[in-house]
Amino acid sequence: MSEAQEYVPSVIKAEELNPKFKYEMSKKHGAEKIMLCFQCGTCTADCPISRFSDFYRPRKIARMMQLGLKDRLLSDEALWLCSSCFTCVDHCPQGVEIAGIVRVLRNLSVKENRIMPLVYRELASNLLKGGYVYEIVESRHKKRAELGLPPLPKPNLEEIAKIFEITGSSKMLENVKTFEKVKS
Ligand code: SF4
Ligand code: SF4
Repeated sequence: MSEAQEYVPSVIKAEELNPKFKYEMSKKHGAEKIMLCFQCGTCTADCPISRFSDFYRPRKIARMMQLGLKDRLLSDEALWLCSSCFTCVDHCPQGVEIAGIVRVLRNLSVKENRIMPLVYRELASNLLKGGYVYEIVESRHKKRAELGLPPLPKPNLEEIAKIFEITGSSKMLENVKTFEKVKS
């Protein structure tokens, strides 16, 4: 995709803009400095994901948050491409934490039953079922014993279930829509 094609915007309708959104988001840990972004583009230039993607642009995420394009942001699968490497955070001249902003948006997406990658839901379900994000098969336990390693700590499944219940995570995981692969 050429640069010119990349930045052809879809028409933004006035009713999509939510001026309060950036203020709401700036109260969340990690997104406090959203108003300081002056669109220099350093984050996009240095982001390893942007280098290999035609559509993932951290600068764009910051601008969309400033404009209050909440629905577009939360329904954008590309939001889940960020690898949380924090390069953008280290390089931003304004101290804006794009990695934190992405985390805040992802949390909101799940909280509002929008979207999340299937693999994340599977990891959370594993945690709920077995206490570990990855299912640990019996052969793994045996191998540890053979190697003289101590048994893995026994997770407290009751407590985990309680945490899922209190935080509303069980409901969120039931209701959120999942996708397998980010569409380009
Ligand atoms: S580097 Fe910082 S100021 Fe520049 S566009 Fe990215 S978030 Fe905004
Ligand atoms: S944290 Fe995410 S947005 Fe920032 S540079 Fe890394 S991949 Fe890109």
